[in-house]
Amino acid sequence: MAISTGEFTSPFFLLRGYENCWKCGNSSRVVGLASGDANSEPYVLQYIKAMPEAFLTEIHKLQPQLEYRLSQAIDASYFMNFCSCCGASIGDHYIFSQPGGAFFPITDEDTQHIEVHELPFLGSFSFECTPAQGIGKAIIQKGTRVSPLSSSP
Ligand SMILES: [Zn+2]
Repeated sequence: MAISTGEFTSPFFLLRGYENCWKCGNSSRVVGLASGDANSEPYVLQYIKAMPEAFLTEIHKLQPQLEYRLSQAIDASYFMNFCSCCGASIGDHYIFSQPGGAFFPITDEDTQHIEVHELPFLGSFSFECTPAQGIGKAIIQKGTRVSPLSSSP
């Protein structure tokens, strides 16, 4: 998989959905990060190996269950969601690449259930990640907008 360093430009959106934990079966919150508005072709940043500290701080306000972990599946470490119940890692493959995963919605209804939080960052920032285009546009267009970040429970 291509992991590269790139510059990504605002707006930035934190996507929040739910994924059933592969280990304990409970539904756990998971997040993803997108760059660019729906009028263009936004990127979803996957397998994030490095990001600005301020982004991590902001993401942790909404999703404490995200940390830099080793993935045995890809033999590399990246910022990974983990289950709020049992602590098992929930790899990006599950949430982005499996149909029906948190950020691979099948129906419009699934898409509407994804929360889209705009993050308070303007300009270009450097990330080491695997950017993907395609699904991000529908999620940003049809997902449920929540703002500002701090108002969410
Ligand atoms: Zn679990």
